[in-house]
Amino acid sequence: MLIDIDRELHYTRDYIGQSAFSERVLTAIAAVPRHHFVPEDLQEAAYDNGPLPIGHGQTISQPYIVALMTDLLRLTPDAVVLEVGTGSGYQTAILARLARQVYSLEIVAPLAAAAAAKLRELGCRNVEARQGDGYAGWPEHAPYDGIIVTAAAPYVPAPLIEQLKPGARLVIPVGDVGGPQQLLVVEKDGDGAVSERSVLPVAFVPLVKGSYK
Ligand code: SAH
Repeated sequence: MLIDIDRELHYTRDYIGQSAFSERVLTAIAAVPRHHFVPEDLQEAAYDNGPLPIGHGQTISQPYIVALMTDLLRLTPDAVVLEVGTGSGYQTAILARLARQVYSLEIVAPLAAAAAAKLRELGCRNVEARQGDGYAGWPEHAPYDGIIVTAAAPYVPAPLIEQLKPGARLVIPVGDVGGPQQLLVVEKDGDGAVSERSVLPVAFVPLVKGSYK
Protein backbone atom coordinates (compact mmCIF):
# COMPACT_ATOMS: atom_id res chain seq x y z
CA MET A 1 0.00 0.00 0.00
CA LEU A 2 3.04 2.28 -0.06
CA ILE A 3 3.06 4.93 -2.74
CA ASP A 4 6.42 5.81 -4.19
CA ILE A 5 6.62 9.56 -3.80
CA ASP A 6 10.36 9.53 -2.99
CA ARG A 7 11.35 10.41 -6.52
CA GLU A 8 10.02 13.91 -5.98
CA LEU A 9 10.98 14.40 -2.36
CA HIS A 10 14.17 16.33 -3.09
CA TYR A 11 12.02 19.22 -4.30
CA THR A 12 9.84 19.18 -1.24
CA ARG A 13 11.95 21.64 0.78
CA ASP A 14 11.35 24.34 -1.83
CA TYR A 15 7.62 23.72 -1.82
CA ILE A 16 6.80 23.44 1.89
CA GLY A 17 9.92 24.85 3.58
CA GLN A 18 10.85 21.52 5.18
CA SER A 19 12.58 18.49 3.70
CA ALA A 20 9.79 15.98 4.31
CA PHE A 21 6.05 15.91 4.67
CA SER A 22 4.78 15.89 8.24
CA GLU A 23 4.39 12.52 9.95
CA ARG A 24 0.66 13.16 10.34
CA VAL A 25 0.20 13.58 6.60
CA LEU A 26 2.34 10.55 5.70
CA THR A 27 0.49 8.40 8.23
CA ALA A 28 -2.88 9.45 6.79
CA ILE A 29 -1.71 8.67 3.25
CA ALA A 30 -0.39 5.27 4.28
CA ALA A 31 -3.73 4.50 5.97
CA VAL A 32 -6.03 5.25 3.02
CA PRO A 33 -6.33 2.44 0.44
CA ARG A 34 -6.05 4.28 -2.88
CA HIS A 35 -7.27 1.21 -4.79
CA HIS A 36 -10.68 1.66 -3.14
CA PHE A 37 -11.07 4.89 -5.18
CA VAL A 38 -9.54 3.66 -8.46
CA PRO A 39 -11.75 2.08 -11.18
CA GLU A 40 -11.78 -1.73 -11.46
CA ASP A 41 -9.81 -1.89 -14.71
CA LEU A 42 -6.96 0.28 -13.37
CA GLN A 43 -6.37 -1.52 -10.08
CA GLU A 44 -2.81 -2.49 -11.05
CA ALA A 45 -1.86 1.18 -11.28
CA ALA A 46 -3.57 2.18 -8.01
CA TYR A 47 -0.27 2.76 -6.17
CA ASP A 48 1.66 4.39 -9.02
CA ASN A 49 2.61 8.00 -8.43
CA GLY A 50 0.45 9.40 -11.23
CA PRO A 51 -3.09 10.62 -11.91
CA LEU A 52 -5.64 8.08 -13.24
CA PRO A 53 -8.96 8.51 -15.07
CA ILE A 54 -12.13 8.10 -12.95
CA GLY A 55 -14.73 8.72 -15.68
CA HIS A 56 -16.60 11.85 -16.79
CA GLY A 57 -13.28 13.23 -18.11
CA GLN A 58 -11.94 13.58 -14.54
CA THR A 59 -8.93 12.15 -12.74
CA ILE A 60 -7.85 10.99 -9.30
CA SER A 61 -4.91 13.24 -8.50
CA GLN A 62 -1.26 12.19 -8.39
CA PRO A 63 -0.35 10.97 -4.86
CA TYR A 64 2.64 13.29 -4.52
CA ILE A 65 0.43 16.31 -5.25
CA VAL A 66 -2.22 15.02 -2.82
CA ALA A 67 0.48 14.78 -0.13
CA LEU A 68 1.88 18.20 -0.98
CA MET A 69 -1.48 19.98 -0.98
CA THR A 70 -2.54 18.23 2.22
CA ASP A 71 0.69 19.20 3.94
CA LEU A 72 0.34 22.82 2.82
CA LEU A 73 -3.06 23.00 4.54
CA ARG A 74 -1.40 22.41 7.97
CA LEU A 75 -4.52 20.86 9.44
CA THR A 76 -4.93 20.34 13.16
CA PRO A 77 -7.15 17.52 14.50
CA ASP A 78 -9.92 19.98 15.37
CA ALA A 79 -10.00 21.59 11.90
CA VAL A 80 -13.09 22.02 9.76
CA VAL A 81 -12.14 21.77 6.08
CA LEU A 82 -13.81 22.50 2.78
CA GLU A 83 -12.74 20.53 -0.29
CA VAL A 84 -13.79 21.58 -3.77
CA GLY A 85 -13.58 18.80 -6.40
CA THR A 86 -14.37 15.55 -4.54
CA GLY A 87 -13.69 13.49 -7.69
CA SER A 88 -13.00 9.93 -6.56
CA GLY A 89 -13.10 10.83 -2.86
CA TYR A 90 -9.46 9.79 -2.29
CA GLN A 91 -8.24 13.19 -1.14
CA THR A 92 -11.41 13.50 0.96
CA ALA A 93 -10.62 10.29 2.84
CA ILE A 94 -7.15 11.59 3.66
CA LEU A 95 -8.55 14.90 4.89
CA ALA A 96 -11.06 12.98 7.02
CA ARG A 97 -8.19 11.35 8.94
CA LEU A 98 -6.53 14.71 9.62
CA ALA A 99 -9.45 16.99 10.43
CA ARG A 100 -12.52 16.96 12.66
CA GLN A 101 -14.99 17.56 9.85
CA VAL A 102 -14.73 17.64 6.06
CA TYR A 103 -17.25 19.21 3.68
CA SER A 104 -16.70 18.33 0.03
CA LEU A 105 -18.30 19.66 -3.15
CA GLU A 106 -18.30 17.97 -6.56
CA ILE A 107 -20.01 19.46 -9.60
CA VAL A 108 -20.55 16.18 -11.51
CA ALA A 109 -23.54 14.56 -9.77
CA PRO A 110 -22.67 10.89 -10.49
CA LEU A 111 -19.11 11.41 -9.23
CA ALA A 112 -20.43 13.11 -6.09
CA ALA A 113 -22.76 10.14 -5.43
CA ALA A 114 -20.06 7.53 -6.15
CA ALA A 115 -17.52 9.25 -3.90
CA ALA A 116 -20.04 9.61 -1.06
CA ALA A 117 -20.76 5.86 -1.27
CA LYS A 118 -17.06 4.96 -1.28
CA LEU A 119 -16.39 7.20 1.71
CA ARG A 120 -19.27 5.56 3.59
CA GLU A 121 -17.89 2.10 2.75
CA LEU A 122 -14.55 3.13 4.27
CA GLY A 123 -16.33 4.31 7.41
CA CYS A 124 -15.50 8.02 7.05
CA ARG A 125 -18.20 9.45 9.32
CA ASN A 126 -16.86 12.99 9.54
CA VAL A 127 -17.44 13.75 5.84
CA GLU A 128 -20.39 15.45 4.20
CA ALA A 129 -20.11 15.30 0.41
CA ARG A 130 -22.64 16.68 -2.03
CA GLN A 131 -23.09 17.88 -5.59
CA GLY A 132 -22.45 21.59 -5.91
CA ASP A 133 -20.45 24.32 -7.58
CA GLY A 134 -17.27 25.09 -5.70
CA TYR A 135 -17.01 28.64 -7.07
CA ALA A 136 -19.53 29.62 -4.40
CA GLY A 137 -17.94 27.55 -1.64
CA TRP A 138 -20.26 26.13 1.04
CA PRO A 139 -21.29 29.17 3.10
CA GLU A 140 -23.52 27.26 5.55
CA HIS A 141 -20.53 25.68 7.30
CA ALA A 142 -18.09 28.59 6.93
CA PRO A 143 -15.66 29.80 8.11
CA TYR A 144 -13.14 27.02 7.50
CA ASP A 145 -9.74 26.24 9.00
CA GLY A 146 -8.59 25.20 5.54
CA ILE A 147 -9.92 25.06 1.98
CA ILE A 148 -8.47 22.84 -0.74
CA VAL A 149 -9.43 23.02 -4.41
CA THR A 150 -8.40 20.13 -6.65
CA ALA A 151 -9.28 21.63 -10.05
CA ALA A 152 -7.69 24.69 -11.66
CA ALA A 153 -9.58 27.99 -11.61
CA PRO A 154 -8.73 30.97 -13.85
CA TYR A 155 -8.69 33.13 -10.68
CA VAL A 156 -9.12 32.67 -6.94
CA PRO A 157 -12.89 32.71 -6.30
CA ALA A 158 -13.71 35.49 -3.82
CA PRO A 159 -16.26 33.41 -1.82
CA LEU A 160 -13.51 30.93 -0.93
CA ILE A 161 -11.37 33.70 0.54
CA GLU A 162 -14.39 35.03 2.42
CA GLN A 163 -15.04 31.57 3.86
CA LEU A 164 -11.52 31.24 5.35
CA LYS A 165 -11.02 31.80 9.08
CA PRO A 166 -8.34 34.32 10.06
CA GLY A 167 -5.08 32.34 10.15
CA ALA A 168 -6.38 29.74 7.67
CA ARG A 169 -5.10 28.71 4.26
CA LEU A 170 -6.59 28.07 0.85
CA VAL A 171 -4.59 25.74 -1.41
CA ILE A 172 -5.66 26.10 -5.04
CA PRO A 173 -4.27 25.61 -8.54
CA VAL A 174 -4.80 28.73 -10.66
CA GLY A 175 -4.37 29.08 -14.41
CA ASP A 176 -5.91 28.34 -17.76
CA VAL A 177 -6.92 24.95 -19.10
CA GLY A 178 -3.95 23.45 -20.92
CA GLY A 179 -1.95 26.58 -20.09
CA PRO A 180 0.47 27.23 -17.26
CA GLN A 181 -1.07 26.72 -13.84
CA GLN A 182 0.45 27.49 -10.45
CA LEU A 183 -0.40 25.91 -7.14
CA LEU A 184 -1.11 28.82 -4.80
CA VAL A 185 -1.25 29.05 -1.04
CA VAL A 186 -3.56 31.91 -0.11
CA GLU A 187 -3.35 32.85 3.55
CA LYS A 188 -5.64 35.06 5.61
CA ASP A 189 -3.76 36.44 8.60
CA GLY A 190 -5.12 37.16 12.07
CA ASP A 191 -6.21 40.65 10.96
CA GLY A 192 -7.94 39.36 7.86
CA ALA A 193 -5.22 40.52 5.43
CA VAL A 194 -4.76 38.13 2.50
CA SER A 195 -1.43 37.15 0.94
CA GLU A 196 -0.55 34.54 -1.63
CA ARG A 197 2.46 32.50 -2.63
CA SER A 198 3.13 30.36 -5.69
CA VAL A 199 4.37 26.88 -4.79
CA LEU A 200 4.97 25.04 -8.08
CA PRO A 201 3.64 24.62 -11.62
CA VAL A 202 0.89 21.98 -11.82
CA ALA A 203 -1.55 20.45 -14.34
CA PHE A 204 -5.13 20.08 -13.11
CA VAL A 205 -8.47 19.58 -14.83
CA PRO A 206 -10.47 22.84 -14.94
CA LEU A 207 -12.75 24.11 -12.19
CA VAL A 208 -15.78 24.41 -14.43
CA LYS A 209 -18.53 26.98 -14.15
CA GLY A 210 -22.19 26.40 -14.65
CA SER A 211 -24.60 23.61 -14.02
CA TYR A 212 -22.93 20.36 -15.04
CA LYS A 213 -25.24 17.63 -13.77
N1 SAH B 1 -9.25 15.17 -5.47
C1 SAH B 1 -9.87 14.47 -6.56
C2 SAH B 1 -9.54 15.21 -7.84
C3 SAH B 1 -10.59 15.06 -8.84
S1 SAH B 1 -10.29 16.00 -10.30
C4 SAH B 1 -9.35 13.06 -6.62
O1 SAH B 1 -8.17 12.85 -6.31
O2 SAH B 1 -10.09 12.16 -7.00
C5 SAH B 1 -11.19 17.51 -9.93
C6 SAH B 1 -12.66 17.36 -9.69
O3 SAH B 1 -13.20 18.68 -9.60
C7 SAH B 1 -13.42 16.66 -10.80
O4 SAH B 1 -14.10 15.56 -10.28
C8 SAH B 1 -14.37 17.74 -11.31
O5 SAH B 1 -15.62 17.24 -11.73
C9 SAH B 1 -14.52 18.63 -10.10
N2 SAH B 1 -14.96 20.00 -10.40
C10 SAH B 1 -14.72 20.74 -11.51
N3 SAH B 1 -15.29 21.94 -11.43
C11 SAH B 1 -15.94 21.99 -10.23
C12 SAH B 1 -16.71 22.98 -9.56
N4 SAH B 1 -16.98 24.17 -10.11
N5 SAH B 1 -17.21 22.68 -8.33
C13 SAH B 1 -16.97 21.47 -7.75
N6 SAH B 1 -16.24 20.49 -8.35
C14 SAH B 1 -15.72 20.74 -9.56
